[in-house]
Amino acid sequence: MSSHKKGSSQQQSNKPSDRTSSGTGDASGNPDRPPIDRSRILGAEEPQRSLSERVMALLDHQRKHWPMLVEGYESLKTVETRSFEFDGFVMTVQCNPGRIVSSSAKVDDRSIRERRCFLCMDNLPSEQRGVDYGDYILLCNPFPIFRDHLTIAHMRHIPQRIRGAFGPMLDLARGLGERFTLFYNGPRCGASAPDHLHFQAGERGFMPMDIDWERMVDRQGEWVIDDSRLRAARVDDGLRRYVILESGDKAALEDRFERLYRSFAEVTASMGGSRDTGATGSRDTGATGSRDTGTAGSRDTGTAGSRETKATGNVGTEAAGSKATGADGTKDIGAAGSSETGSSVENEGHGITRGNRGDEEPMLNILVSREPDRWRVIVFLRRKHRPDRYFLEGEEKMVFSPAAVDFGGVCILPVRRDFERITAGDLRSMFREVSAGPQVLDEVVRRM
Ligand SMILES: [Zn+2]
Repeated sequence: MSSHKKGSSQQQSNKPSDRTSSGTGDASGNPDRPPIDRSRILGAEEPQRSLSERVMALLDHQRKHWPMLVEGYESLKTVETRSFEFDGFVMTVQCNPGRIVSSSAKVDDRSIRERRCFLCMDNLPSEQRGVDYGDYILLCNPFPIFRDHLTIAHMRHIPQRIRGAFGPMLDLARGLGERFTLFYNGPRCGASAPDHLHFQAGERGFMPMDIDWERMVDRQGEWVIDDSRLRAARVDDGLRRYVILESGDKAALEDRFERLYRSFAEVTASMGGSRDTGATGSRDTGATGSRDTGTAGSRDTGTAGSRETKATGNVGTEAAGSKATGADGTKDIGAAGSSETGSSVENEGHGITRGNRGDEEPMLNILVSREPDRWRVIVFLRRKHRPDRYFLEGEEKMVFSPAAVDFGGVCILPVRRDFERITAGDLRSMFREVSAGPQVLDEVVRRM
């Protein structure tokens, strides 16, 4: 795991001039934006400071003055992790038994309607402060997975949708600089507040994918576009299927992302309900020569190359420290931010979240990081919210509800028993089950 230390990029390359408008319908100056409670905003009197600097000051302040956050970071020291090595990449699993209760939170439509939104300004805990940036407010996540874990909420209570928010996401990534990786969970892909637009960010280098991505393209993928404005790669690493976009040209990136989004929506719509085969299916239906053979609940015993290492206790400053999280009751008491890697229950009967219903966005999770001269965007294509084993009872049950951080290579398991027994084969079969099939990836890339 030595290769997965904190990212080498500590410098803050962003400048105040990065505070550009979003270039989308959500641009700054939106008259619908509610008045901000200025007492909530930290560092507003120092607009010359970069976003990254203001955010680090925020983390510093909140770690001293917000007991809930102090407690959250304290628990990072006791979490346990295990690592699994696959063909060219690493997956870490981690557990925090103190968060077992968190796995039972309800985020179905009704529960969402009836709860007080924990991302709305009016509901934030009294100790919580934020940094404003255009239409967004950056907050400390009180249930941290990362050492520096931010929740970035839109000022208004508008639904979680990436369309129209991708440009602002790029702006935020540029503003935060190389220190952070930003991520987005789709409303049916792990977002615990599907009703309130938000991103999260954590220190770059924590998720193995921050480091592994280039090797993944070399070994298990290919560059499919490479021109002067942008390059794009497709990767099928045997667990996940994803597209990587890289460019320093924001307009080019937005344009290609829109094409990717539309293609994915079309492909999944055209495949209809067969996108996944229902409650039992982790099969890639319709995929000729499907590489997915694992069915849900079956242990994929082909654990090729799954060397395992185990770490316990305080694993210091590296990837180990983390909190098994997930939606939980506590986050709904008005704490801004939730880890989202856990267990938001959507209105799904038995893990069937397939098919596009009306204008719902195609199922995806996104990571965005920033190099000095360009962005890197990794889009994980999904077909299912949760593996079937999540819904089983008894021995086969496993509480694993993957979102962006899990796809980035840090899998959160809130149940200790799951943490102790999970195998590389389990990870492989569950990721395959919730990832888009290889044929979908092929078709999306062909059309985008
Ligand atoms: Zn809200």
